[in-house]
Amino acid sequence: MINEFELINQLKSLVQGQDSAVTLGIGDDAAVIDPALLPAGHKMVIATDTLVIGRHFLADDNPEDIGHKVLAVNLSDMAAMGAMPQWLLMNLTLPKIDGQWIEGLSRGISGLLKKFKVELIGGDTTSGPLSIGFTVIGLARQPLKRSDACVDDLIVVSGELGSAAFALHNPGRSSHCDQQLKRPQPRFDVSEAVKNFAGAMIDVSDGLLADLNHICQASGLGAQVELEKIPVHSAIKVDLKWRDYALSGGDDYQLCFTIRSDDQSLLPSDCTVIGHMHAGSGVTVYDKGHRIQVNRLGFDHFG
Ligand code: ADP
Ligand code: MG
Repeated sequence: MINEFELINQLKSLVQGQDSAVTLGIGDDAAVIDPALLPAGHKMVIATDTLVIGRHFLADDNPEDIGHKVLAVNLSDMAAMGAMPQWLLMNLTLPKIDGQWIEGLSRGISGLLKKFKVELIGGDTTSGPLSIGFTVIGLARQPLKRSDACVDDLIVVSGELGSAAFALHNPGRSSHCDQQLKRPQPRFDVSEAVKNFAGAMIDVSDGLLADLNHICQASGLGAQVELEKIPVHSAIKVDLKWRDYALSGGDDYQLCFTIRSDDQSLLPSDCTVIGHMHAGSGVTVYDKGHRIQVNRLGFDHFG
């Protein structure tokens, strides 16, 4: 059993030694970032997210998967803003300090930190029911807001939708979908490729309908989506509920964004146009030309 200080020392090994605007990292009462050392013309973009035992993951889930997922979920918010993550703070609440478990968690976290060159600069450690929260600070020249959709813009999604929800309801039936659920990858490849011409952007965490509806509300517009255009993995079609997974399943962490129709040829191959924005409100779904009723706007935490 290790104590809190040993734990923090272990976490320090996650820090990436790299040039950055951080002039004081882990070890003092607070971290220091010098804005004069930021690259010119960039804004700081800040997001935080917490995952809680029993709600977002289970005690006997693999700690490496937990570490990966909690961080991926946080990084995905940066991708959805068209920002690149730079610095990270970690808030850990642990019922006990189990060295092996922490090591697993650290491995899951450090994989993504290395991949996207993110530096851990601080955090807090307390005892209590297991929860893990991250605060990510990123940089963007022009953050992509939910309110930036325009009438007649095309609606685009990256990758495939519904895989994580399929895996949640059918564990072990598709290793591809299981992987999407356990190890989602924040889509910085897509956000970097489209950030100069995309309008509004959001990551699909609660389900397409719920998240696209946020773009509708923020932009004061409606969205029309063609069900048959929504990209899904072939494995999920063995489940009669695949349409629900694609429309309302959460946890995919793909990006949903708008573009002008003139820019369609600039889209990366992994992106699919699924509908368009129009004057009005809310999301409507059409299946082969017929409007279908959707009764559930994705996953609602307080619903
Ligand atoms: P304080 O008592 O001033 O809050 P702490 O003992 O909580 O200081 O933290 C000491 C140092 O360790 C700080 O620099 C803090 O940012 C860092 N730290 C504590 N917990 C974590 C953690 N879970 N992840 C990263 N850094 C941490
Ligand atoms: Mg503290």
